[in-house]
Amino acid sequence: MNYARFLTAVSAARKPSPIRLLTELQQRSPPSLISLAGGAPNPNTFPFQSATIKVKGGDDVVFDETVMKRALQYSGSYGIPELVSWMKNLQESLHNPPTASYSPEKGQMELCVTTGSQEGLCKIFEMLVNRGDNVLLDAPTYSGTLAALQPLGCNIINVPSDQYGIIPKSLKGVLAQWDPADVQNTGSTVPRLLYTIPNGGNPTGASMTLERKQEVYELARKYDLLIIEDDPYYFLQFQKPWAPTFLSMDVDGRVLRTDSFSKILSSGLRVGFITGPKPLVDRVVLHIQASTMHTSTFTQLMISQLLHSWGQDGFLKHIDGVIEFYRCQRNAMLSSADKWLKDVAEWHPPMAGMFLWIKLKDIKDTQQLIMERALEKEVLLVPGGAFNINSSDPSPYVRAAFSLSTPQQIDEAFRRLADLIKDAMCLTD
Ligand code: PMP
Ligand code: PLP
Repeated sequence: MNYARFLTAVSAARKPSPIRLLTELQQRSPPSLISLAGGAPNPNTFPFQSATIKVKGGDDVVFDETVMKRALQYSGSYGIPELVSWMKNLQESLHNPPTASYSPEKGQMELCVTTGSQEGLCKIFEMLVNRGDNVLLDAPTYSGTLAALQPLGCNIINVPSDQYGIIPKSLKGVLAQWDPADVQNTGSTVPRLLYTIPNGGNPTGASMTLERKQEVYELARKYDLLIIEDDPYYFLQFQKPWAPTFLSMDVDGRVLRTDSFSKILSSGLRVGFITGPKPLVDRVVLHIQASTMHTSTFTQLMISQLLHSWGQDGFLKHIDGVIEFYRCQRNAMLSSADKWLKDVAEWHPPMAGMFLWIKLKDIKDTQQLIMERALEKEVLLVPGGAFNINSSDPSPYVRAAFSLSTPQQIDEAFRRLADLIKDAMCLTD
């Protein structure tokens, strides 16, 4: 892979911070090292002394005074070594990337911690997207992605999709306007990036099948595309075995995968990961060096201690519990939808994630319905337009999250929504 052709001028111009390099070095040095380098403040002057964080049904996370000093201090930009290595092992066991391994002799894989996957995505786009570039994605898509991409001035091309995500035949059709032989030419307009949410898509709830991923990956090879696999709902797949990921089939090193702990450990702690080709992850880390420096050391230590005490088995057992919760919630939402919305709307049961994407049969645009009239009925959903490439395009959809409300609340919400729709239809009659 020639990664240079993918980089923006801004990203290519990033240089390592000499002080950050020293921090990485210091992280791996014995305590006998006397460092007069860096600009780390003295943690003895900090007011926080120690901490115990109670963990449900397991060992507590305990920071004694020594650990606390480390938790309050600067750390390396890739992430603290014990969390990075735990995550590398997890990625190896879950995805077993074909060529890729983290060891230099086997491959060119790298992993870094991000302050949530949103930060990772934003920095990935900044690294790869120039003004005027053609970027492929299956809309409707996560509004945070659009918020990060659109200001870069790229031309977003929609790839038609259904409840199984991107339709490979449609992607082939979209790409047919370009000649793969043109790819390496300077000034070529061939897209270089395909972004997708492969499981429990936000907002559509769509999940891609293995066959579709394989076909999309082959097209990515033909046109030398990078695939951004934004997979925060990977751990919320209701059916086992979980679908193989793009990362698991990445023989070339063209997949940048973003993972998130937001839906399984904590959304407020802000921890995510990028896994992908080392030359690209290294560029993201240069950006991190120049912006946040690193994800909170306190947060990383807290999560790392928990993961090390759980081990992979304990982690996956925790995930099973989370999945069970969301599966029940999904089922509750589906039965309430059947009860109240059958005549006025349609939907596909989501196989992952926390969203039901509901198409209202007789309403062309849900914007006004939700933003103006829903509050009067005391029910709130997201109008589908929020996820369109052009947010003012009409959308007959609403997104309902089954994550936070009780089954009783969900039922009452859909009763109110059905009422609202019926009222709106009387008005337009
Ligand atoms: N500005 C200056 C002048 C600094 O010396 C430093 C830290 N060495 C920073 C900004 C970054 O500070 P922070 O740790 O709050 O990101
Ligand atoms: N990507 C998608 C598809 C999401 O739905 C979300 C959160 O809603 C994110 C990324 C951001 O996640 P994080 O909290 O890890 O930044």
